[in-house]
Amino acid sequence: MSLTASPAVRRLADWDDDRLQRLADEYGTPLYVTDHDRIRENFVRFEAAFDFAHVMYAAKANTGRAVIRTLYDAGADVECAAAGELHRALAAGVAAEDLQYTAVNPPDGDLDYAVDLWADTPELTVTAGAEMTLDRLAERGFDGRLALRVNPGIGTGHHEKVATGKDAKFGLPYDEVERVAEAARERFDLVGLHAHVGSGVLADDLEDHRRALRKVADLAERVGGLEFLDLGGGFGVPYRPDADPLDLEAAAAMIREVTAGVDATVALEPGRYLVADAGALLTRVNTIKQTPGTRVVGVDAGLTDMIRPAMFDAYHHVRNVTGPDREPVASSVGGPLCTSADVFCTDRPIPRPEAGDLLAVGNVGAYGIDLASQFHSQPRPAEVAIEGDDERVTRRRETFDDLTRLEDEAPGVE
Ligand SMILES: *Cc1c(COP(=O)(O)O)cnc(C)c1O
Repeated sequence: MSLTASPAVRRLADWDDDRLQRLADEYGTPLYVTDHDRIRENFVRFEAAFDFAHVMYAAKANTGRAVIRTLYDAGADVECAAAGELHRALAAGVAAEDLQYTAVNPPDGDLDYAVDLWADTPELTVTAGAEMTLDRLAERGFDGRLALRVNPGIGTGHHEKVATGKDAKFGLPYDEVERVAEAARERFDLVGLHAHVGSGVLADDLEDHRRALRKVADLAERVGGLEFLDLGGGFGVPYRPDADPLDLEAAAAMIREVTAGVDATVALEPGRYLVADAGALLTRVNTIKQTPGTRVVGVDAGLTDMIRPAMFDAYHHVRNVTGPDREPVASSVGGPLCTSADVFCTDRPIPRPEAGDLLAVGNVGAYGIDLASQFHSQPRPAEVAIEGDDERVTRRRETFDDLTRLEDEAPGVE
């Protein structure tokens, strides 16, 4: 099978259960497993559908060096929305000229870092979404490649907290962009407009997405003289097993149609789409409590390992890797933390979990390990990369010593 013909979705049932069992035995749980072949497939399929566009990887979805490196080697440039992301992309071996930096309420240190990088690498493009950011860039001597982030005033996406287009935090107010663009040309090399209008866009939202992008495309026509129009990321993946994948061809046709009148290259920055279904989180059942209503299933992973269900009410599929063919029973799967938010699912039919079973949580390759924390003194989990028959630990499991490593020593304790 060629990479471009790869399936549009990879469900948990498509993973090799025996291999997952072996990985859990060998490296322990909780464990992130990241399939780099699948990341590559996703990129190649995306790029083939959007063959008219410049495709970058939005690194914040998964900023592990190994992940950045796989996408960079596959041909993706890298979009960074923080100086720390620039740092990690450089540490992954990405050349500075293949980076783009989007400044969102940038701390001084972030701007200093980006301007220093630009001083050595004038190809670096900086995107700004506030006039004050332009002033702060100019104060630092920056007069290089600039893109303006536009707030089209219409958001799309699967959850209000991530529908950024309607959130005034991001981008210049739509009606001010022409004025700001004209003034910016005096001080900078204005090369692009940028709009990232939502996250998790699927077929149902394509019409909203089209309206938002239409507004941005109209603006790009009016501003004129641009090298690129960057329409951001936000391409959704099906989290539920019965959800359809995004029709990439339809999305590509829509974007091509919307931008037909714009004399500039279209740029896109998918994050989630490229990495989400390449990740699974393995967790071991340690406690079973059958209640009249539900089977309470205690596991060793918690919201500190994967916070999306607690933070966004996100659905993530749970597979019983040990007993996938057992009779499903209503199950509530939760982790080891003393907070009621620490559940992956409630009253969901899962093939009857038993103590010792291995469960897998699906679609965790995006916004999974990057949102992991040490809350409740939980060491963060390990990550293993698989590629063909190869496997390697790309992130070691934290230890209890890692929990206190950055602290001052307690007085009187040797
Ligand atoms: C987060 C982000 C993206 C990627 O969003 P996805 O929903 O993961 O595709 C792209 N561009 C910018 C500027 C972002 O902040």
